[in-house]
Amino acid sequence: MTTLLTNIGELTTNDGPALHDAAVLIDGDLISWVGPAVQAPSADEIVDAGGRAVIPGFVDSHSHLVFGGDRAAEFEARMAGQKYAAGGIRSTVAATRTATDDELRARLRGFIEELQAQGTTTVEIKSGYGLSVDDEARLVRIAAEVTPEVTFLGAHVVPADYADRSDEYVDLVTGPMLDVCAPHAKWIDVFCETGAFTVEQSRRVLEAGIARGLAPRMHASQLGPGEGVRLAVELGAASVDHGTYLTDDDVYALAASDTVLTLLPGVEFSTRQPYPDARRLIDAGVTVALACDTNPGSSFTSSMPFCIAVAVRDMGMTPTEAVWAATAGGAAALRRDDVGVIAPGKRADLVLLKAPTHIHLAYRPGVPLVERVWKDGVAVS
Ligand SMILES: [Zn+2]
Repeated sequence: MTTLLTNIGELTTNDGPALHDAAVLIDGDLISWVGPAVQAPSADEIVDAGGRAVIPGFVDSHSHLVFGGDRAAEFEARMAGQKYAAGGIRSTVAATRTATDDELRARLRGFIEELQAQGTTTVEIKSGYGLSVDDEARLVRIAAEVTPEVTFLGAHVVPADYADRSDEYVDLVTGPMLDVCAPHAKWIDVFCETGAFTVEQSRRVLEAGIARGLAPRMHASQLGPGEGVRLAVELGAASVDHGTYLTDDDVYALAASDTVLTLLPGVEFSTRQPYPDARRLIDAGVTVALACDTNPGSSFTSSMPFCIAVAVRDMGMTPTEAVWAATAGGAAALRRDDVGVIAPGKRADLVLLKAPTHIHLAYRPGVPLVERVWKDGVAVS
């Protein structure tokens, strides 16, 4: 089965400059041809883009989509002046532990539909709201039902039942919990932050995961500066995420490495933290990704277009850079070269916008501009 998507007014390929009056041929689950519409080959099905813009499907490389309950009251209190602290995670842990597998699964499937309708075709999902051996195991198993990009985040926060015994909790994470979660996960992650895990504990967690064949990534420098970014670079992490407070040494280390810095604008938006300076990072040569960090505490949006709009408005990115960071940048943060780019041989993950150009994603914030989404060559929205 071949589908020709033609009469594309602006095609962002991430494989050279944007093309105009372009077409894309989908063959099965892959892209097989990209070029000028007038030279397009024949196909079983023709879809007329009507002169509108097409971009790669978004690659959201950071989410926490398996959880129970919500924290709307905490958000309301924060907007009234209360400060965000990492400890709020514990209330979601309590709600997640009491939810059944089917409740978590139904909720997760709802989120997947929600984010696909907004153009996301690849999503990474973390555990981290179970924080016991059995609960973390069921979260990674449920996440693995919907994505291959599963991250074991037993080291999200020290649970209340281990209060003041954080090293013992790290023993649990790096021992029995890792044993049951590693077979279902690709990544190991840790929240390296005041109120969560120290840099020494973070090293233990990531090194234990690496020894079990998981690849490292890290939450760091969200609430203040620290040594997390340099540890992530030292351990060859695919990505270090947040980076709201970066020293010049952090930026130099990132620029000289293969580690992506993943910015999460939804967090600063809904915690009223200062926005990180994406311009500083890009100008220094750091590879930057954008992701939603969908979670019930610090960022309960699943909208990559919203994150693009904020990154352009408040973080110094151009619309082209922001779309790149939300597609090819996310792919780099997941060490994937088959998504985030529209080129022959890549996965047929495409978004047709209700707009003549990708600039509208930032120019028309909050407007549902996603007309149609293909994932693996299948129209999913
Ligand atoms: Zn996160």
